[in-house]
Amino acid sequence: MHDVVIAGGGHNGLVAAAYLARTGRRVLLLERSGHLGGLAVSERVFPAADARLSRYSYLVSLLPSKIVRDLGLRLELRRRRYASYTPAGDGGLLVDNGDAKRTAASFAALTGGDAEHAAWERFSAMTARVAQRVAPTLLDPLTDRAGMRRIVADDEAWRDLFERPAGEAVAGRFDDDLVRGVVLTDALIGTFADPSDASLLANRCLLYHVIGDGTGDWNVPAGGMGAVTAALAGAARAAGADLRTGAEVTGIDPSGEVAFRDEQGEHAVSAGHVLVNLPPAVLARLMGGDAEPPEGSQLKLNMVLARLPRLRDPSVRPEEAFGGTFHINETASQLADAYAQAADGRIPSLPPAEVYCHSLTDPSILGPELRASGAQTLTLFGLHMPARLFRDDPDGARDRALRATFASMDTVLAEPIQDCLLRGPDGTPCVEAKSPVDLENEAGLPGGHIFHRDLSWPFAEDADETGRWGVETEHPRILLCGAGARRGGGVSGIPGHNAARAVLEATA
Ligand SMILES: Cc1cc2nc3c(=O)[nH]c(=O)nc-3n(C[C@H](O)[C@H](O)[C@H](O)COP(=O)(O)OP(=O)(O)OC[C@H]3O[C@@H](n4cnc5c(N)ncnc54)[C@H](O)[C@@H]3O)c2cc1C
Repeated sequence: MHDVVIAGGGHNGLVAAAYLARTGRRVLLLERSGHLGGLAVSERVFPAADARLSRYSYLVSLLPSKIVRDLGLRLELRRRRYASYTPAGDGGLLVDNGDAKRTAASFAALTGGDAEHAAWERFSAMTARVAQRVAPTLLDPLTDRAGMRRIVADDEAWRDLFERPAGEAVAGRFDDDLVRGVVLTDALIGTFADPSDASLLANRCLLYHVIGDGTGDWNVPAGGMGAVTAALAGAARAAGADLRTGAEVTGIDPSGEVAFRDEQGEHAVSAGHVLVNLPPAVLARLMGGDAEPPEGSQLKLNMVLARLPRLRDPSVRPEEAFGGTFHINETASQLADAYAQAADGRIPSLPPAEVYCHSLTDPSILGPELRASGAQTLTLFGLHMPARLFRDDPDGARDRALRATFASMDTVLAEPIQDCLLRGPDGTPCVEAKSPVDLENEAGLPGGHIFHRDLSWPFAEDADETGRWGVETEHPRILLCGAGARRGGGVSGIPGHNAARAVLEATA
């Protein structure tokens, strides 16, 4: 008999385990795979490259400093000097966190005036205010919609982020197609949506991308995502939690009984509470039910380059351009075209994507020889690649998506990306591609959805939820503690924290 059994050892499960074990609760965590961390891991992906890549998630924004302090985590999150670079013909838009004048000049050169930069500044100031006000509430019991509106305390921000479709709000604020696209990409990460859609799914995605820890900055975890998981696992173990890998949960009963199997055989344990770090559709299955799986939408590429590619734009060095988020064919109209093609069942002809070079900000993920050789890592996150495109022919469709994405990259570079890939002794290039169907098969994500399900508003949407933690299920002993909880999604630890708080409240 345990006080708490946690099904799944992703970073949220580890956060919950650490908080609960520190209060003296007997905690057993069961993780199916051979390692902890779920989607927050570093791995050596290519035999030919001594590089530890953040194989799935790669940047940290949503993890509250409060969790880091509470759990005494030794973590270094590095701010990126360059926020973003977006090539356009032989020029481009550079947003330089360290040089406001250069950013303003880049806007002026791209758009021919100061208006777009002024609009950008106004939008950034608005999201910064919302971030400061909303982020602290994510670790509190849920307020309702009216309460959140009072917290936001800004009618314009409320209208543009919470009420009118992001596509409309962005079109109303910006005139330039490229600038509109740079803003809208945050609304489309892992989310197959038309930003003009009344469902406001894209708005929810945008909101979580601009409020992280009260700043919205997307930082580089020194040592990669594996360092985040190692810090969390260390905190949970030090507090006395029993963390087991190679233990697959096979059934969960409303009474708190959990069935699992490991190499010794089949077992059953009982707990006062079961915290579920698994996607809601998986929980439904483990409880003997059924649920419609969500649909993820992205193509993730992990690459090691022998060197960074040359750019067409002579005013920006590759180290600057790739040090932040490098947008590829992501103007608002290119995003709309790609969405229409994917919705029609086709791999976009010019896939929109963003790339980022981790090793520029944190060379420690490269072995000494690789580092000395000038090699760099490159992570690509491709948009509008919904699971439906990969269902019938997963290998062939992945291959077509990879080729289309390389071709898309080549339209904005001064040399083919494939010429820059590091190659093994037999000529094999250091690149791997993961479609939503790959993520479903290897990481157990239904539909390959990186947030376990579509993101939800950070407030209660019905009266029953108000004052609760957003982790409850219809069974009092069973709580969500993963990305599928309200206010979940991303590497945040928030559902883990909130599930732990719900248990402590229920057992006080
Ligand atoms: C390609 C990709 C890129 C991303 N990029 C970012 C990013 O840069 N920044 C960001 O903030 N977020 C990013 N995300 C999203 C983020 O990684 C996830 O939303 C978050 O890590 C989910 O954490 P979790 O702890 O809730 O669940 P998970 O990490 O999914 O962990 C669930 C755990 O449960 C285990 N499990 C599954 N079934 C069983 C079972 N039956 N029994 C026992 N254990 C089981 C799994 O093995 C896994 O360890 C990305 C995700 C992906 C896939």
